[in-house]
Amino acid sequence: VKVPARRFPFAFGRLARALSEIAQIPPHLKAEDPPPPPPPSEARVEVRPVLPPKTLAQKANLQDYQEAYAASLKDPEAFWGGFAREFLWEKPWRAVADPEGRRWFLGGTTNAALNALDRHLPEKAQQVALLALDGEGHLEKWTYKELWEASRRLAGLLKGLGVQKGDRVALYLPTGAEAALALLALARLGAVHVALPVGLGPEALRERLIQTGAKLLIAADGHYRRGRLIPLRPVVEAALKGLGIPVLWHTRGTTEFLERALEGKALEAEPLPAHHPLFLLHTSGSTGRPKGVVHGHGGYMVGVAWALRYLFDLKPGEVFHTTADLFWVVGHSFGLYAPLFLGGTSLLVEDTPDHPSPAAFYERLARLGVDVLLTSPTVLRALRRHGETRPTALRLVGSVGEALAPEVWRWARERLAWPLDNWWQTELGAPALATPLTLPAKPGFVGVPLPGVEARVVDPRGQILPPGEKGHLVLVRAGPAQMVDLLGGKDPWQGGLYWTGDLAVMDEEGYFRILGRTDEVIKVGEARLGTAEVEAAALTHPQVAEAAAIGIPGEEGEEIAVFVVPRKEVPEELKPLLAEKLKGHLLRYLGPVRPPKIFFAESLPRTRSGKILRRLLKARLLGLDPGDTSGMEVEDVPGETA
Ligand code: ATP
Ligand code: MG
Repeated sequence: VKVPARRFPFAFGRLARALSEIAQIPPHLKAEDPPPPPPPSEARVEVRPVLPPKTLAQKANLQDYQEAYAASLKDPEAFWGGFAREFLWEKPWRAVADPEGRRWFLGGTTNAALNALDRHLPEKAQQVALLALDGEGHLEKWTYKELWEASRRLAGLLKGLGVQKGDRVALYLPTGAEAALALLALARLGAVHVALPVGLGPEALRERLIQTGAKLLIAADGHYRRGRLIPLRPVVEAALKGLGIPVLWHTRGTTEFLERALEGKALEAEPLPAHHPLFLLHTSGSTGRPKGVVHGHGGYMVGVAWALRYLFDLKPGEVFHTTADLFWVVGHSFGLYAPLFLGGTSLLVEDTPDHPSPAAFYERLARLGVDVLLTSPTVLRALRRHGETRPTALRLVGSVGEALAPEVWRWARERLAWPLDNWWQTELGAPALATPLTLPAKPGFVGVPLPGVEARVVDPRGQILPPGEKGHLVLVRAGPAQMVDLLGGKDPWQGGLYWTGDLAVMDEEGYFRILGRTDEVIKVGEARLGTAEVEAAALTHPQVAEAAAIGIPGEEGEEIAVFVVPRKEVPEELKPLLAEKLKGHLLRYLGPVRPPKIFFAESLPRTRSGKILRRLLKARLLGLDPGDTSGMEVEDVPGETA
């Protein structure tokens, strides 16, 4: 990416034009004749673009988004190839991508572990690669040299245990150095790591071990949750009964695992085809049974590294931190791989971010000098609810996983750092829509398609809808970090389009707003409301900390039900009054719809990755079958059965 002079003020018209010129819209996707008028009850959002601080924008790694975007689609060879050449390839690629942009770096061979570690030696031997804070508060520092040495020996040990290229190895380890080492060691020998969320109950764990065909399990005998050590050995033993899968244990409170690793014979990284599977990882299970997503070595490496440098703007010498657990895609891509691909420093934290208190979170960021944070709306809402903030050195706070409501965006900007909303999915590996630092942000809108990505809003048949109309978010191109395979789910590519399952709207300037999931749309009268629209409206009320909207069967069509977690406890006798106030408040945003039903809750059910599980709220309210809940978070219950 070239670094031309910056241009401000930014002309929105130019962006819209650039997007439409670049986009070679396939003929079957051309907008149809007269678009129907928008429904009367479009949730009213006031959008005032906000310019990023000059200090951020002028120094941003990506100076000209439009130029980069155009180049990425017009000449992927030059754009992605140029960036990919920074990495080590045993054999160069024949073509950067196939014509559809699905398979990347064809014919090229490389290895993610080689590029995460060996590539930085000897220059960065003494630089800290990982900071790992365990649940007891011990901070470990791992230099590039140390991580390289330990992981190549662990790779040797694993090979000695019979693990071969292409084998799947499951991990049941909390976020920390041991997990990072295991992932890197497996990548090194070309095995496929399958990180399973710690906290899965024995049944769910067993099922995933069988379903993924794991040859070996690397497991910890305990993990910390809100300061308590929760034993995992009984869960693992119950899960494994009769399966004959061997276990390599990490015994908490001892260095046995590490010592054993160091006994292994150091192993060189195996050169692998770019699409050779690096890992299998499950989706969050928000909409149903979690799907198994497979990512490869080459395209994934290039995609996540690009995003960390040019979107999240990580500079040499800076510390990056994501609050996501290592066993979710955000943890894989940005807790571990991207920071190491760039030779950066990543902070891994085992326990929940706000343990023992939100104050401790701010103090940790300040003490460890975190520059760039990637977190979720859930964490931001929790910090906002707490209220009090402390100074940190953060430049930037990325938000991913759920819609970032404008109220929460504003809170983050005032109290934490410049918020950078970014939309993607486990299947995509890296951000696809976001607002780069040199573009104005529109709170409530996630932003524009990033280089390599073409996005559209279409009707159920795939016809493009005009700006301002709600529809299905689809991708025509999905970028180099996209998955290479999918287990247990319908292929999202149908009729030449990648169907994201999300409901969205695009404005005249090419900015996208994510409104919720298409299968959770609330149909009230003439209107089709996305859950995120209703929830964003609820969050503008000063007494609302969290909100979840669902549609329930009513007398005529559906009715809106909103579950509200108040910011402060509300006495029982005042609840009806607050409910009335909230109804009035919501109607001001939602227009002429039937007044929503309000339910108060102390907390909302979530996936383990922290997303609100609306389908569970609906099932509970209507007395229906909740479906697969193996992805559900169960707070503080040791070894629960999911
Ligand atoms: P499952 O696919 O099993 O139902 P999931 O879709 O929640 O679970 P993930 O891959 O973890 O699994 O999450 C991707 C989804 O998260 C997106 O499809 C979108 O609905 C939501 N999402 C992610 N980032 C954002 C964002 N910035 N704004 C709005 N929604 C987001
Ligand atoms: Mg999904």
